Amino acid sequence: MYISNMTHFLDEQGNIPKQMPKEARELANFFALVVDSTTKTCPLTLTATEIRCFHKGCHGTVNSALSRAKGEIRWYCPVCENEGVISHWQGTKWDNMR
Ligand SMILES: [Zn+2]
Repeated sequence: MYISNMTHFLDEQGNIPKQMPKEARELANFFALVVDSTTKTCPLTLTATEIRCFHKGCHGTVNSALSRAKGEIRWYCPVCENEGVISHWQGTKWDNMR
């Protein structure tokens, strides 16, 4: 279970720093994609996206949902059961609800 604060992955300009270690950068890119996709449609229940799971060897695509009550985005890979929650995504470049 990944509990992620989106702002922890961003520099002062709100970008994903290029000098970030590769694994952290891949994670940050994944979270950014999830925020972008989820805030376009704002599904309240887990809904399919086209985002590939980042788990090694997994070819699944993740589902995501927006929790209106908590303001968190939940994502889940039905293939490997990799899952997590993203908070503090509001106002980032990938927030389509701005
Ligand atoms: Zn997976």
